[in-house]
Amino acid sequence: AATDDTADIPTYKVAMEPTFPPFDTINEETQELDGFDYDLMNTIAEDQGFKLEWVNMGFDGLIPALQAGNIDIIASGMNASEERREKVDFSTTYYDSGLVLAVKAGNTAIKSIDDLTADMKAGGQIGTTGADLATELYETGKIKEAKIYNGLDVAVMDLLNGTIDVLINDLPVTKAYMDAKPGTIEIVGDVLNAESYGYAVKKGNTELLEKINTGMQNMIDNGTFDEIYAKWFE
Ligand code: GLN
Repeated sequence: AATDDTADIPTYKVAMEPTFPPFDTINEETQELDGFDYDLMNTIAEDQGFKLEWVNMGFDGLIPALQAGNIDIIASGMNASEERREKVDFSTTYYDSGLVLAVKAGNTAIKSIDDLTADMKAGGQIGTTGADLATELYETGKIKEAKIYNGLDVAVMDLLNGTIDVLINDLPVTKAYMDAKPGTIEIVGDVLNAESYGYAVKKGNTELLEKINTGMQNMIDNGTFDEIYAKWFE
């Protein structure tokens, strides 16, 4: 991390992919990064006496950037999976999530994952567990194509214009897109897996990880976590 030479306060680079509301988004008025992750990470930084420089990045670029030392923290609704834990270290997890299928409202053909057929196309965001599942469905011959998107905003547009039949994405985020355009998207079937989001640091960066975990616990203990949660989810 670079050092603020006037005050000797460390500055860390923190990255998110901002088409993942309400966790990671762009504020329409300020055009700055925003969301639950943005507010939570900023209050952790304030509590722990460090500064943040926010970076907007493709989801598939986040872990490579952390490993290369180009960024210090990933705060981007990232499932702290076993597979990713081999590459990076995760903070205490702060949100339990899972994948769901979504269809265009009025599509009665798909009520669950079992209804997918070999003429259908599924979409997911690059580098995510949703894209992994779409790819697996394609490779096992259950669908015709897995369409992998850089941003979920475009994936949702393609769901609505019929380019894809189904979107595979995290429940709270698909809900946020639904709420933004009521009556256009429907979630179908069960939650398909269990995911827990954590903030990631470079493997072995225990000093920064401890700051994040301590700050997170302080936010939980003093009620700030609940306040930020209410701002974005209620
Ligand atoms: N749950 C997904 C993952 O961690 C999606 C993350 C995202 O798009 N921000 O792979």
